[in-house]
Amino acid sequence: MHSDIYDLIGVGIGPFNLSLAALLGPLDRPLIKFYDNKKSFDWHPELLLDNAPMQTSFLKDLVTPVQPTNPYSYLNYLVSCGQFYHFLNTGRDVITRLEFNHYLKWCSEQLSDLLEFDSPVLDVKYQDGLFKVIKSSGETFTRNLCVASGPVPFIPECSKPFIGESVFHAKSKHLKGVSLQNKKVLVVGGGQTGLEVFRNVLNEKWGKSQNVTLITGRDNLLPLDEGPFTNEIFTPQFVSEFYELNQDSKDKFTKSLLLTSDGNTPSYLADFYNELYLDKFYKKSFSDYTISPKRWLETISKKNNEYEVTIRNTLSDQCHSFNVDVIILATGFTSGLPNYLDSLKEDVLFDDRGRLCISRDYKLRTKFKENNIYMMNYSRHGHGIADPQTSLMSWRSAVIANDLLGESKFKNTNNQSSFIDYFTEGRM
Ligand SMILES: Cc1cc2nc3c(=O)[nH]c(=O)nc-3n(C[C@H](O)[C@H](O)[C@H](O)COP(=O)(O)OP(=O)(O)OC[C@H]3O[C@@H](n4cnc5c(N)ncnc54)[C@H](O)[C@@H]3O)c2cc1C
Repeated sequence: MHSDIYDLIGVGIGPFNLSLAALLGPLDRPLIKFYDNKKSFDWHPELLLDNAPMQTSFLKDLVTPVQPTNPYSYLNYLVSCGQFYHFLNTGRDVITRLEFNHYLKWCSEQLSDLLEFDSPVLDVKYQDGLFKVIKSSGETFTRNLCVASGPVPFIPECSKPFIGESVFHAKSKHLKGVSLQNKKVLVVGGGQTGLEVFRNVLNEKWGKSQNVTLITGRDNLLPLDEGPFTNEIFTPQFVSEFYELNQDSKDKFTKSLLLTSDGNTPSYLADFYNELYLDKFYKKSFSDYTISPKRWLETISKKNNEYEVTIRNTLSDQCHSFNVDVIILATGFTSGLPNYLDSLKEDVLFDDRGRLCISRDYKLRTKFKENNIYMMNYSRHGHGIADPQTSLMSWRSAVIANDLLGESKFKNTNNQSSFIDYFTEGRM
């Protein structure tokens, strides 16, 4: 027999599994453990650029929306660190990613008994009614899994042959050490990451570039839609009702809601515009730059030490080419079954587009009768636009925790109805 059999093992310790650990940690049961391949907790360190803002309220922390009395709330963090009054005096309702990362690190230190870093999960096998989790440091057995190891960077096809020190995704080790001194730089992508990278290039974070171009397929640098009525979609009720739609409606609706999650932070846009204004008319210190919307990266070819890129203007449908030294891809993320679950692939159900089928309560549909694999951040197509966001992470953790515990320990249904009614017809 196996010595330690866990009730749940979590793979990945980002905010999502940390939220689950924060809810379950203070309880006597179940027996849980979380593994991560990093040496210690760090939230997207590659992209922790200067003053990068959070796009979500700090009250939507690991626990508050479902259990405000939990010790791992942002408010308790502020009080414990002696910062509460000073934070209030900043007058801010938006915190930076630096602050959020500190808060998460603080929580991870308190929860250290449940967390094991430097433990990459390499493989998972199903054996005698249990999952055998194989790590570099050994094996453990568990009845259930919670997979939250994050999406992987999306690399456009044409850039794949060149990935390395000069052509790389923004979320990669290459960004930190790159020198852009006197280089011609192309940033691909006009979402928040592309914008932050572009701004930091202009501000010479990696040396003074010769010139820098930002291209985006979008119509412009578009603001995040964070209006109050829009934000009604970041509620548990919306997710529950959205879940029942047919897949075609879900796909169309999610596409139309893109800017509710993937737009640029409005205050960041305003600050950056001001910075460009001051530079253009007074300081005149930025390298040459171009911001080009409605552009699509079509091809890349290597010419000596440079890359010739061909860009399509989707307004004029004309292509033009130019040479650059460095290409930084801010092209987003993609998610699918993680490689370490390959051994279970035959037992997992996919939809007709090869996407994972995930139940309302976040269980991967599998052939295993007694054991569950909960999935966090793998069901944008099923649960909607909030799935990759921190907005509803504590609510989702509560759904999973209740299911695991077999009781409604966490209140996740006591929410009033929405002001926006997408789903019922006529006067009710
Ligand atoms: C730069 C950036 C800023 C964002 N800002 C916001 C925001 O302001 N608001 C918002 O709502 N959302 C935001 N998001 C989206 C989302 O909230 C984050 O991506 C969030 O980190 C997702 O959490 P996660 O726990 O799923 O994954 P991650 O944070 O990616 O954590 C996954 C962890 O799993 C580990 N791991 C991977 N493979 C293995 C393995 N085989 N074994 C062990 N460990 C493994 C990784 O090292 C990592 O530590 C942002 C995303 C990015 C990239």
